[in-house]
Amino acid sequence: MSHRPTVPPTHVVIFGRPGSGKSTLAERLGAEHGYVLFRTGELLRAAVRRDDFLGQRVEVHLASGNLVPDQLIFELMEQSLKAPATGKLLFDGFPRTMGQVPLLADFERRLGFAIGCYLDVAVTPGEAIARMTGRRVCPTCGATYHIVGKPPKVAETCDLDGSHLVNRTDDKPEVVALRQQIFDEYATPILDHYRRGAPETFRTVDGEQPFEAVYADACRALGLEAPAS
Ligand code: ADP
Repeated sequence: MSHRPTVPPTHVVIFGRPGSGKSTLAERLGAEHGYVLFRTGELLRAAVRRDDFLGQRVEVHLASGNLVPDQLIFELMEQSLKAPATGKLLFDGFPRTMGQVPLLADFERRLGFAIGCYLDVAVTPGEAIARMTGRRVCPTCGATYHIVGKPPKVAETCDLDGSHLVNRTDDKPEVVALRQQIFDEYATPILDHYRRGAPETFRTVDGEQPFEAVYADACRALGLEAPAS
């Protein structure tokens, strides 16, 4: 039986393996339903582009495909998550380890907000790897594309600033499989934790469907109006 919220949850955490399409889904939920995205991966890459003290220490972890240590994520959170009252937050990429689970609970308490839905975008590892090889990113502004799913207007060129698009360093083939293993190892206990501990707020959508169907299912799971099919 699927539980559907009668009131859309204000704050949401989205989970999905690298290549699941969770970030595209998060962007669309942000654009059409007003969620403010809190994306640790994007915040970390921005710190690397700025080359600030945090960026200098996280760069090596990002390029290797390994997770950034919890202590640095804690610093990132302290720096970036100050005023949740500003909107409906959608967490994409956090929490990523069991060590970060109490960190989220701590931020909920301190800043006075509550996660109303944990949404899991389920995709098999094989499908996820196939998708990741087509991803591109703008090295200047961080805009993301996919050569099949979300191509730029001009091949390999950023629509926003004309920069030549590149593969993310962590989308290199040798790193892609490692990131899938890391997801299986670290995310499985987190998903079990919320599935068991907060079943009324935990939902799964089938991420292997065409994107429009994934989006419509996600909207329904969140109690939001789904686009007409
Ligand atoms: P993906 O979901 O495709 O892995 P993200 O942009 O969410 O992409 O994350 C990219 C990288 O950023 C991860 O491989 C990891 O190194 C780092 N990262 C992001 N969020 C966290 C986090 N909460 N804890 C540790 N590392 C993180």
